[in-house]
Amino acid sequence: MWNFSYVGPSLLVTLVFLAYYFTVPRLRIRCNRTFLLLVVTDLAVLAADVVSSLADEAYASLPRGLLWFWNGLFFVLFLLRAYLFYLMTLDALGFRRQPNPAKRLLGAAVLVVSELFVLSSPFTGAVFYIDDLGYHRGAFYDIIYYCFLFYILLTCFTVFRHRSQVSRYELVSTVAFNAILLAGIVIRFLFPRYLVMGMFCQLAIIVIFLSFENPQIYLSGRNGVFNTNGLRAVLEETIPRRPYRLLALAVKNYTEMRGIYGGEQLDRGMVLVGNYLKTAFPRQQVFYLRSGWFVVLGDGKMDTAAARQTILERFRSSWSSKNVELYLEVSFAAVSSGSGITVADKLLNHLLVSLEQAAQPDFETGAVIELDNLRKMERELDIKRSLERSLEREEVEIYLQPLIEGRSRTLAGAEVLCRIRDSAGNVVPPALFIPLAEKSGHINLLGEQVFEQACRFVRDHDLEAMGLRWLNVNLSPVQCMRTDLSRRYTAILERYAVPPERIHLEITEQSVSDNSMVEQQIEELKARGFLFSLDDYGSGYSNLTRVKRYPFFNIKLDMEVVWDYFRDRDELLPSLVRAFKDMDYSVTAEGIETSAMADVMVDIGCDFLQGYYFAQPLPIDRFVEKYAAPV
Ligand code: C2E
Ligand code: MG
Ligand code: MG
Repeated sequence: MWNFSYVGPSLLVTLVFLAYYFTVPRLRIRCNRTFLLLVVTDLAVLAADVVSSLADEAYASLPRGLLWFWNGLFFVLFLLRAYLFYLMTLDALGFRRQPNPAKRLLGAAVLVVSELFVLSSPFTGAVFYIDDLGYHRGAFYDIIYYCFLFYILLTCFTVFRHRSQVSRYELVSTVAFNAILLAGIVIRFLFPRYLVMGMFCQLAIIVIFLSFENPQIYLSGRNGVFNTNGLRAVLEETIPRRPYRLLALAVKNYTEMRGIYGGEQLDRGMVLVGNYLKTAFPRQQVFYLRSGWFVVLGDGKMDTAAARQTILERFRSSWSSKNVELYLEVSFAAVSSGSGITVADKLLNHLLVSLEQAAQPDFETGAVIELDNLRKMERELDIKRSLERSLEREEVEIYLQPLIEGRSRTLAGAEVLCRIRDSAGNVVPPALFIPLAEKSGHINLLGEQVFEQACRFVRDHDLEAMGLRWLNVNLSPVQCMRTDLSRRYTAILERYAVPPERIHLEITEQSVSDNSMVEQQIEELKARGFLFSLDDYGSGYSNLTRVKRYPFFNIKLDMEVVWDYFRDRDELLPSLVRAFKDMDYSVTAEGIETSAMADVMVDIGCDFLQGYYFAQPLPIDRFVEKYAAPV
């Protein structure tokens, strides 16, 4: 009475799938596990369907318990399969990575209720019952259709709701396999005696396989290890869930090697390396990214240092097969869950940048770039980019901090201090970007833009009304390496019609020691009328003789020196100040944070005071507001 003609081919298709599935390398990701579970469940449904149908036909000669069991098992698995199709979509599209507990509960609740109906059938006869005349459908038989229908609709609804996160291809594939399942359900509903549902499920599985599960998506064509897509898929799943350790290696001078050995030889070499890594690290997953870059990914317990030694040891000998004999060198990059990085794509980007660096000829062979302080690297990168952007768009801001005349406590000058903003719009202090700018050479442009803004400030404001006599602008020693510095600064002064004595240049004590270039530039600038302050005195090792060589008129005591004096008052600072005064320098004390500090510094002879007690560095408008009327 049952028609089994569709069952045989369905079974065969599923078996072929399983065989194929186990022969190609698979990533250890949830999507693959769910797919396997789906295929196995599908096989079990088919088997249970056939056995229960045969048992139902031979009901008279079989014990009733056996009929209950096989029919019950079929329904349980049938419903489970519907649920697994739904889970498969979630996993394939990565939706289960951001689990929403409420939705998960709703997703599983319909399955649980339907299964309860099935399991209660021996007592209630809800879905089916067995009596003297054999197997019969129960009053709630249709619940199996509703359950299946629910999961088809839920899948479509979920994908449509998140359609911005999925590609068109994924959307079409998902709709396609659900349409196939729907057709299966309808036909089963109309022709229940034909066991065709299995065949429709197989078609749906084929669509899923071609769209989401094809192992070629994650395999590197060259050497049978996983590729960058595979690494991304694994990292996306691993990062938020489990501790991991990752060791990456870069074959050094890969492009050059291609030239020496030829592309084909080197490709074969990469296959050898890939195979070696797979056998040397069977518990870990191995990936090939590109151009001689491999990744070994392990759990939180992997000993990366030992793995590095093992690999280095192997690379001491050649890589040879039939007609290949390659000598290769490697360097490494390593990162672990301790890096605190939460996005797979970001980690991959950093990894690629590091591997690029590790592969350079001047990078020490066998050395490793640790990426665990990624946050720091990211912050640095952001600051670097923000600096470049600020310079390009001329958005560097200047802040002004008052320099107060000690005796009268009135405003005398102000120090110009620059600020930039990071990508989030927050102010970045100069300690973070000045050293970067000095290293990259951006300091020349930065210094010039700050200087120009200072001139603009002088031109556009009534300094007299504020009691402001001059501005101090910082000059980096790196700027002194340019021989046209004085010409450029003078040109800016002239453009804004600012007399040079309005701008004092501050140069730090450290940068003047034994630097003839700095000495020469200072002389040239002085010849053009600029005045110089020695900044941060006491932070370096300058002796007074050296200071005297330079044309300073003002010495700024470093705030550490000032604070030291208040921690432990000795005669050193007062006599130093006296010595400076005797040599006709004016003296400024930095870091004045209290009224008492101000008093004491004036008493020991300082002429000017600078510090938070008077004001922090202020944006121009706030500074003007504060000092619009003379203090
Ligand atoms: P600096 O030239 O010694 O500037 C004084 C620094 O001390 C400023 O830090 C200021 O905010 C801080 N400061 C002032 N009074 C107090 C106080 O009472 N307590 C404390 N704790 N700190 C105080 P800022 O603005 O962060 O600048 C740091 C350094 O960056 C400057 O040190 C200077 O060397 C450099 N810099 C700033 N702007 C420029 C620039 O346009 N060009 C160059 N080459 N360097 C600059
Ligand atoms: Mg300064
Ligand atoms: Mg200073």
